[in-house]
Amino acid sequence: MSEEKKPAKKRETRWASVLWYIHLHVLGLFAIWLAFTSAKWMTVIYTAILTAISCLGLTVGAHRLWAHKSFSATSSLRLFLMLAHTVAGVGPIYDWVLYHRLHHKYYGTDKDPYNHKKGFLYSHFMGNCMSPTVDHEQAKLVIDMRDIELDLYVWIQKQFYWPMFLVFGIILPLNVPLAYWDESMTETILITGLLRFAITANVCWLVNSAWLIWNIKGNKIPPDSISVFLIKQSFWPSYHYMVPWDWKCGEFGTYGNGCGSFLIKIWYELEMVSDLQTNSTEDIRKMLHEVSKKKITLNDGIEQLKEASILHATTEKLLISY
Ligand SMILES: [Zn+2]
Repeated sequence: MSEEKKPAKKRETRWASVLWYIHLHVLGLFAIWLAFTSAKWMTVIYTAILTAISCLGLTVGAHRLWAHKSFSATSSLRLFLMLAHTVAGVGPIYDWVLYHRLHHKYYGTDKDPYNHKKGFLYSHFMGNCMSPTVDHEQAKLVIDMRDIELDLYVWIQKQFYWPMFLVFGIILPLNVPLAYWDESMTETILITGLLRFAITANVCWLVNSAWLIWNIKGNKIPPDSISVFLIKQSFWPSYHYMVPWDWKCGEFGTYGNGCGSFLIKIWYELEMVSDLQTNSTEDIRKMLHEVSKKKITLNDGIEQLKEASILHATTEKLLISY
């Protein structure tokens, strides 16, 4: 039986993870109260900046750069994004990319680790606290991970994840409020430690579950496609699952103008980013027209878009080089 047709593995709930995340969220809520009542404002600002940097490692790094190869980055930028991802404390990039690619491959089926058809709680939370839908080793047989295995920084992070997380995710970040503005131990651990991890965990999970919130077809919220279009000015949830390589597609409802896209544009100008893959509206319109006329199938049309985006990136690179 081919890998595609094999039934999904029965999933076991990892209760230790469930309990950890429940405690993390309860203490995180208490930390929000402390942030408004007793913490020093420098602690709050510092934690917000640290959280934003961690989120860049998750969205621009793990999602757009490593999982979907929507652009190439210089080694210094990859090192920065890998360290930002380590600060977030959500496990190695390698595992996240493997399961995100699995999520795209088996999207909306039983083998999808974050199957949105099972509801928001499953897609956002429980899917992350259960054993995999496909054995780790089997997943590596169906998902091409060669590009990730060749990335030095992803390899270093995978080999030394826990010591690196201890240093870059806990010891160094928590030392700053204690050493530089004399914050108390309780506020530092709860705000700069646990509240930060609660936020980064949710951002990491939302990349896989945001579909449910901004879904255009579901019978939950919002109820019709027009309201999504009016609220978010885009049909991006569908778009990302059809054209995952587009670097402009933000994780949370923006297209080309979110914080991550803005930074990618700056890094591009600084020549730290290249091979930006995207498709013009014209490309997509042409493809949809051909599909509607039954000249090509939708799958062939998407393949054509992929080729057009690679051609676009290569042409631009040649124009800049010469
Ligand atoms: Zn994706």
